[in-house]
Amino acid sequence: MISFNRIRVIDHNIVIDKKNIFSKRSANIKGVIELKETIPIINVFEGKEIIRSYVIEPLSSNYDLKGQFLHFSISVQENDAVMIDGIISNRNDSHLDWTDENYEAVRFQPFFLKSSEYQNKQLIGKGLFERGLHYPGTITPGGVRNICICDFCKKSFTLQHIHSGFSELQYFYSLNSQHSLLVKYGEIENLPVQLQESIDEKSLKELETTLSDFSNEGYRYYNSLNCPHCAKPFINFEENKHIRPGEYYANKFINKEFLHYTK
Ligand SMILES: [Zn+2]
Repeated sequence: MISFNRIRVIDHNIVIDKKNIFSKRSANIKGVIELKETIPIINVFEGKEIIRSYVIEPLSSNYDLKGQFLHFSISVQENDAVMIDGIISNRNDSHLDWTDENYEAVRFQPFFLKSSEYQNKQLIGKGLFERGLHYPGTITPGGVRNICICDFCKKSFTLQHIHSGFSELQYFYSLNSQHSLLVKYGEIENLPVQLQESIDEKSLKELETTLSDFSNEGYRYYNSLNCPHCAKPFINFEENKHIRPGEYYANKFINKEFLHYTK
């Protein structure tokens, strides 16, 4: 049978062919990539042009990915959206399931192909839900890490998360965005809870003063999550304040620890 699938995987490279009269607009494939580097880089090509490079930064608990396998799923949708997920395993014929504590999966930041480039531009500074890295109503397992691509320098970086609503926590990014502070509900007066729509600016100022007594890292509710390479905002809360209550996953850069507020 002749395959008209637009997606091909060759070593660490994913090639998406341009649409033509023979290929269907949408396509899906699943398969296994043998990882040939300690820190593998997965390149995505549109035709001959490289359009995204995702660095799979290893966890410090599994620091050498060479010789391991990425069980991937790639889909190109009718609307030009490309979604890529993978599960890391030391076997090529099986992998752990998300309920296992050693489950290790990666979600590559979805993007649109060049014919819909304007849609990528509309996502600049937006949250992880709009960018397709989390889905409302579905919990992203803790073992899944997000590999994001900076809107500005185009370098990739990796985020780990917790669902702060279920954990009854609020989070704050430091001014330089290198640290993530968690505060338990009720631990500080007027702490906004997740999904709380109305945020009182005056109470927030008081709360942030309390946080500045705790640490001089400049923790603020509307601090953005910045790219660790060029420091430009990735989730730009300063300019998109309305998305802040709904971004209920607290993020930290891979292999860093969350900090916890104490009185
Ligand atoms: Zn950057």
